[in-house]
Order: sequence, then structure tokens, then C-alpha cells
Amino acid sequence: MATPDSVDPVRFLDGGCTCRHVRYRMTSAPMFVHCCHCRWCQRETGSAFVLNALIESDRLLLLQGDVDVVDTPSNSGKGQKISRCPHCRVALWSVYGGGADLIRFVRVGTFDEPDRLPPDIHIFTASKQPWVVLPLGALAVPEYYRSADVWPRAGLERRAAALAKTAD
Ligand SMILES: [Zn+2]
Ligand SMILES: [Zn+2]
Repeated sequence: MATPDSVDPVRFLDGGCTCRHVRYRMTSAPMFVHCCHCRWCQRETGSAFVLNALIESDRLLLLQGDVDVVDTPSNSGKGQKISRCPHCRVALWSVYGGGADLIRFVRVGTFDEPDRLPPDIHIFTASKQPWVVLPLGALAVPEYYRSADVWPRAGLERRAAALAKTAD
């Protein structure tokens, strides 16, 4: 459940698919934003990278429509469940690792104002396409990383609280 504190209209981030069947709202800022340059994300987007905003699942509200959850292979071997619009098939968010739906990776490009969520870290830069030049000083790692090494304390606390919830 989103608490009143987390539902700040100033921080609402709304988005949806291309045919507008699905509309969603993120009720607070995300914990962290990934720019992933792995081959899997390149293939799944047909592009050079994907932008994912990591948010507690209960802070992502479905305002309208419904989603198809598609089991998809992942780099880790544990799979991911991609939620797609059942009509236009645009991917809206993923849950990784075959676990409970506790943290969602929301595709930043599907927000109405994607400019509000620049990446906090670039990951899997070992397979970054060479023409993509990262901003000077951008946090970047060749593969993955440990959240404890990188995230601010508030994000780590939110992450721990989300993962402590049992799927019921
Ligand atoms: Zn759609
Ligand atoms: Zn990736």
C-alpha cells in the first residue's frame, strides 16, 4: 500500500503504452534508475540500451487497462516476466529473477515525461555500442554491481523493506 507520504502529486509519474489501453502511475520517485547496455536489452528493445526505473510494486498503480505477463528468458537464466499491453504489445515493466512481484523495472520510455528520470548508473557497459558516449563522470560498471555499494541509504532501506514482504 502506498502511504500518504509517498503519494505526492508533485512526484506523480504517469505513463502508458502506445495505444493508450494501459495507463499507470508511479506514486513516488523510483529507488534507482538503470541504463542497461547488455545485449539482451539491446535485442528486446531493438535499440542500443534500455532505461529502467526500479520501484516497489505497490507504488506502481494500474490506472486503466490490463497487462499480459509474458515469460521471457533473461541473461541471469532465472527469467523475467514482462508486462505488455495486450493490444499494442508495448513492454511497460519487468519483474526479474523468477521471484515474487516485489520490485518492478519500469521502462522509462513509456512515461509521459521520460526526461524526468535520467539514469543513476550505466550497467553492462562491456557491451555498450561504441557510438554511445557516456556523460563525463557518469557512474558506469562493465557488468552488474551490488546495490549496497552504490545506492543511497534511503533507496537501500526502501529496497530492504520491499524484499522483506512476502508474496501473499
Ligand atoms: Zn497498448
Ligand atoms: Zn540489460
